[in-house]
Amino acid sequence: MAHLDAYNRPISYLRISVTDRCNLRCIYCMPPEGVPWRPHEEILRYEEIETIVRAAAEIGISKIRLTGGEPLVRPGIVELVRMLARIPGIDDLAMTTNGILLADYADELAAAGLRRVNVSLDTLRPERFHAITRLGRLEDVLAGMEAARRAGLTPVKINTVVMRGMNDDEVVELARKTMEEGWNLRFIELMPVGNGVLAEGGWRERVVTAREIRGRVEAALGKLEPAKKAAGSGPARCYRLPGARGTLGFITPVSEHFCYHCNRLRLTADGQLRPCLLSDLEVDLRTPLRNGAGVADIKHLLLHGIAVKPLEHHLDRLQKPEKRVMSEIGG
Ligand code: SAM
Ligand code: SF4
Repeated sequence: MAHLDAYNRPISYLRISVTDRCNLRCIYCMPPEGVPWRPHEEILRYEEIETIVRAAAEIGISKIRLTGGEPLVRPGIVELVRMLARIPGIDDLAMTTNGILLADYADELAAAGLRRVNVSLDTLRPERFHAITRLGRLEDVLAGMEAARRAGLTPVKINTVVMRGMNDDEVVELARKTMEEGWNLRFIELMPVGNGVLAEGGWRERVVTAREIRGRVEAALGKLEPAKKAAGSGPARCYRLPGARGTLGFITPVSEHFCYHCNRLRLTADGQLRPCLLSDLEVDLRTPLRNGAGVADIKHLLLHGIAVKPLEHHLDRLQKPEKRVMSEIGG
């Protein structure tokens, strides 16, 4: 049974950033030169992550998502998946990836016990993809999505951050993919939390609210009907276009925050438990682990993290984390 926090929210989900490194430099997440990587010794070792997940499972956390940075750039990531997949009580193990390396890893990840992947993709146009990510090639991501589907890492969900003047002219084209190709797509409102150009000045002008996106999609493609949530949809509100096989969701951290239903904790790559993405409150797990803490000790620290989880954030008033960037916390 999941533990309740001070506001009666059952906490059943842990997102783990396995690395702060990345093979892309998305404009809303990182500056062109990247962020200074943390030294290796500060990053949790796989055995340390395993201990934390065992402890988490014992207090009713059943869902784990591996993220980053880019999880697929960390050497041995398939082995970590294998280690976590066999922990009793973990019944959903997923990953959020930029998809660049997914075609190489999809089969191995599935065989190791990964259930599903979310792939981040903001545009269908190759030059624009390169402009947004600064480094990547669209065709690699599309190949990664296809490989994931074939490997059974389904439903593959596509996360699209919408930015005015960058890719908002593509929302209808992207939404059409749910009808023509059965994509499960979620539009995400741009948050002012990364370390990229769009997170600084000009963020407000770049945000496109879910309401506006929905209006544009419905005007072009028909009315959205509420859909049953696809597995692990978290805070997304899910819909379906007329006749569509795939679903269309909206994640609205800016216009309509979902804190009252928040069921998650986050673990940074350097071993700090963050009860809320947008609060700098952290519980250090790495130091105790390196001083010999075992599953029972970590359980207590996790319960402490749950007890101090803040009620809500105020992104609309531009509350944002000061100490860390998105690629360290894991989005
Ligand atoms: N590298 C992986 C990827 O891009 O999928 C995983 C980590 S990334 C930080 C996780 C998610 O956060 C991605 O879907 C990304 O688009 C999203 N993200 C990053 N910066 C964001 C921002 N400023 N506003 C909204 N979403 C953001
Ligand atoms: Fe890398 Fe993901 Fe950040 Fe893009 S959003 S720079 S892929 S961590």
